Amino acid sequence: MKRNYTTPSGEKLSGFNFKKSLGQNFLTDETVCEKMAEDIDKDTFVIEIGPGAGVLTKHLCERAKSVVAIEIDSRLIPLLEKELSNYDNFKIICNDVLKTDLLSVIKENSNGAKKIKVCANLPYYITSPIIMNILNRRLPIDSLTVMVQKEAADRLCAETGSRAAGAVTAVVRYFSEPKKLFLVPRNSFTPSPKVDSAVIKLDILKKPPVEFSSEECFVTTVKAAFLNRRKTLLNTLSNALPIEKENIKEILKSLSLDENMRGENLTLVELAALSNKIYDFENK
Ligand code: SAM
Repeated sequence: MKRNYTTPSGEKLSGFNFKKSLGQNFLTDETVCEKMAEDIDKDTFVIEIGPGAGVLTKHLCERAKSVVAIEIDSRLIPLLEKELSNYDNFKIICNDVLKTDLLSVIKENSNGAKKIKVCANLPYYITSPIIMNILNRRLPIDSLTVMVQKEAADRLCAETGSRAAGAVTAVVRYFSEPKKLFLVPRNSFTPSPKVDSAVIKLDILKKPPVEFSSEECFVTTVKAAFLNRRKTLLNTLSNALPIEKENIKEILKSLSLDENMRGENLTLVELAALSNKIYDFENK
């Protein structure tokens, strides 16, 4: 989709071909960037995902000790280098964030920063994989402040066991304390997306709120429990897991869980207990 866009330094990009397939909706409202960067200070190393033309990056560089931005679209690299040439605390990596070893990025670039944060206006087509990847890998980060679609924000910040919850909700609640910060209307971007957005913050917990025998088994159990919302817990688990239905029935009974309930209604504590029983069953 070809559009005109003015970069943060005032350079006019006429007829830039915004790639919908890469979720390219660039922010035009800089007050959003100011608010997103509010808690960044000179003790902080920041990873930004998808800097685009550098509108948020500039605010991050102003405030942070250093910033590494990971951008998949090679057309944007010369533009970013020019836009951010005034900052010597900035580095760009041209790569797919899902194929980037973020732990090495942190080790090689954080230079003893006291805090490590992710701050990004995420490409919406891979919001969940990016967040899940960062959380599941247990990277040594303090928080993620990210802009996502409003509906995704509702799900990511929902209470487990509530109607708005999804598999991602339980994983987010296990690793972090999620908060909705503010809404961003669709007309704050070029091109304007079809939906509104919201900025959320996930503060990473030092200690998980519940104990598991295996984090891997927890993630598998959560995915299985939420796989088919219209099916009963018994049916969705027996479809998704390599365990006989009769055995799943026994596991649910031993936990006093109703086999006819829906997976989305399980609380985090119930999901923990279920995943521990499944782990014990698979490893006996
Ligand atoms: N930060 C800019 C802003 O706020 O204006 C751009 C945000 S735009 C919603 C998403 C950005 O992520 C685009 O620059 C896009 O090229 C980039 N992107 C998309 N997929 C990516 C991936 N897999 N890895 C890294 N960057 C990606």
